Amino acid sequence: MTSQFTWLNGALVETARATVPFLTVGLHYGVGVFEGIRAYDAEKGAAVFRLRDHLRRLHGSARILGFRELPYSVDELAAAVGETIRANGFGGCYIRPLVYLAEGGWNLTLDTGKPHVGIAVWKQTVYAGHDVGGGLKANVSSFTRSHPGANMTKAKIAGNYVNSVLAKTESQRLGFDESIMLDPEGYVAECTGANLFLVRNGRLLSPPLDAILEGITRATLITIAGDVGIAVEERRLSRDQLYVADEAMVCGTAAEVVGITEIDGRRIGDGRVGPVTARLTQAYADAVRGTYPRSDEWLEYVRPPRRA
Ligand code: PMP
Repeated sequence: MTSQFTWLNGALVETARATVPFLTVGLHYGVGVFEGIRAYDAEKGAAVFRLRDHLRRLHGSARILGFRELPYSVDELAAAVGETIRANGFGGCYIRPLVYLAEGGWNLTLDTGKPHVGIAVWKQTVYAGHDVGGGLKANVSSFTRSHPGANMTKAKIAGNYVNSVLAKTESQRLGFDESIMLDPEGYVAECTGANLFLVRNGRLLSPPLDAILEGITRATLITIAGDVGIAVEERRLSRDQLYVADEAMVCGTAAEVVGITEIDGRRIGDGRVGPVTARLTQAYADAVRGTYPRSDEWLEYVRPPRRA
């Protein structure tokens, strides 16, 4: 469902009027940074999951890209997110802040333009476009994930996502749901918009942060695994280790936690969503809905602003 209001450079405007001029450099060269955040209808009311962590990452992405300064602090953006959700009367929704280069920048530098900032919200649609409770079919992409020295893998830079679009389009045209991308050295990196975990002999394995996005869901699951006594190892994983995993799963704000039951036509484990995946899927669902012991730490409630 589309929203009625979008926040643009400090004020709410009708979403239909939240447009950018065709000659905006951010659009032409992908010069911008964004976040993908979610609010949930939690037990105690609408709440955004790890809002400040996402906004800190947005500021980090802007710094990595090279913006000298953003016009809004993390606190100001957090307030703007709350304002946008309330203005639209939403509870659970997807939240998309975007900082893009405008008012110049045509000479391919940041310093001749200015960062503009928008925040859109919409009702979350289903990840992968269909029910994924039974698990995903993935392939290893023929496209390599960016080298960490080329496109800055720790930043959610708009232009970086061309790499993801190449991979995901290829996967879906081949009949898979998701693609697993290898890093330039041939080790498992991440999916197109989500991180990856394997389970082997009861241990949770994840590629190290070397060449992947520092996913907030990934960090959440590592914390949950610690809480419930599942051992976690962050280490390099090779393509063949995918095939002999007992379980595999993707995780991300949009995907949440979803099992992978087939990779490159090979059944993972017994071909069904495994017990560790199911346990983490449930714990994450509890976390975002306010019923996990750490939920209060992670949820920022969307409450009306205090009156002065
Ligand atoms: N990797 C990539 C490339 C992504 O775009 C995302 C989505 N932001 C993730 C991983 C997962 O990150 P998060 O859990 O913070 O949503």
